[in-house]
Amino acid sequence: MTKEIAPIAKNEFVTVTFEDLTHDGAGVAKIDGFPLFVPQALPGETAKIKVIKIKKGYGFGRLIEIIEPSQHRIEPICPIYKQCGGCQLQHMSYEGQLSAKHKQVTDVLTRIGHIENVTVHPVIGMNDPWRYRNKAQVPVGEREGGLVAGFYQQRSHEIINMESCDIQHEQNDFVVQKVKSICEKYGVRAYDEKKHRGTLRHIMARYGQVTKEAMIVLITKTADIPQRKKIIKEIVESIPNVKSIVQTVNTKRTNVIFGDDTSVLWGNEYIYDYIGNIKFAISARSFFQVNPEQTKVLYNKALEYAELTGEETVIDAYCGIGTISLFLAQKAKQVYGVEIVPEAIEDANRNAQLNDISNAEFAVGKAEEVIPAWYEQGIHADVMVVDPPRKGCDEELLKTIIDMKPKRVVYVSCNPATLARDLRVLEAEGYETKEVQPVDMFPHTGHVECVVLIELK
Ligand code: SAH
Repeated sequence: MTKEIAPIAKNEFVTVTFEDLTHDGAGVAKIDGFPLFVPQALPGETAKIKVIKIKKGYGFGRLIEIIEPSQHRIEPICPIYKQCGGCQLQHMSYEGQLSAKHKQVTDVLTRIGHIENVTVHPVIGMNDPWRYRNKAQVPVGEREGGLVAGFYQQRSHEIINMESCDIQHEQNDFVVQKVKSICEKYGVRAYDEKKHRGTLRHIMARYGQVTKEAMIVLITKTADIPQRKKIIKEIVESIPNVKSIVQTVNTKRTNVIFGDDTSVLWGNEYIYDYIGNIKFAISARSFFQVNPEQTKVLYNKALEYAELTGEETVIDAYCGIGTISLFLAQKAKQVYGVEIVPEAIEDANRNAQLNDISNAEFAVGKAEEVIPAWYEQGIHADVMVVDPPRKGCDEELLKTIIDMKPKRVVYVSCNPATLARDLRVLEAEGYETKEVQPVDMFPHTGHVECVVLIELK
């Protein structure tokens, strides 16, 4: 039972035992049924907390002292874990994280989806859950005349310097440090957001984990970079495998990182990388999965659930740069992908060509508008794949699926709550959820991805 009226008040100290973990890694404890969310607390733990905020139906607390620690509590390996906020679960053993994510998926499917008897497989984790990210995007600031590059301290605009990030590929750490010190050497000033002055706003590093190719993006306030030629020369000489150096100019007062103008300073516009045996061209602005190793696991599962024989027509709604479409095209008769961002569709077409895949066609538009139009034109999917953003599938798209009746729907989800909501809709209209496979794409964060097999009854 959840209570609406708070049995405790702000600034009170209480001792509680945590029952659960939220998707953003906070512990959940209930006082007479009233839920309190406390960052850094783990299920099973008893702790003294201070109540810091009361809202209607729930509240927030701060961890003061752990009285009985969880068996999964460990010392975070990162020295700046608490200041940064990029990871939420480093204080929990990896094994503990995987079982908490499994429980989260199972609970949400039952509570929101009313789906009881479905197999939720154990979460597929990484053998080595560190250093997995292929992209770093770090703000640059100044401290005592020198440049700092790292992250914004939580709830502030102060930039903390970061030499190393344990979930980032080593090469990206190296690139960011190197580019920072080269820029410093040549007197490049960091952008100052208060005064709206200075040059360098962000350094971005991308790395092809299979190809080992590196891309560097300098995000600047001004088009001009002092000593640009010398800076580029030194970057090229000191960073192995750099294939592309790009500048994007962002003149605005904004939190948005990228500007509108992007130009190649040196080398190619693209670097390349692989997911499985499919090759991808990645530009500075392209979306590309940040953990390609686990993406391969996730999409191979999607391929397995699609059970393709070579005769099927497949629709990939929310196709992005066509990653899943191209994976499936290898085993399907024809794949149609739809995606709302035009640049992503340009990438998808380029990637199809790059891999000599001719049975995948892509369209720009809203899935909920394009797919019904296709259906009217007589395009009928045997298998529908959806990989929507966090808010889940559009209602119109679900209606179209129900009308079109593909025999299988493969749902790739980054948010178990909207997944459960959408499964409930499909279950009410003749579909049955068969299997759920969670995959840990972002170790040490609260996120969990799932791939789900749904079949027409
Ligand atoms: N499978 C893709 C990633 C999907 S992420 C890949 O691997 O590249 C979800 C995608 O849905 C994003 O690319 C987003 O731009 C797109 N999107 C969001 N709303 C949409 C809509 N209404 N119709 C089609 N695509 C949409």
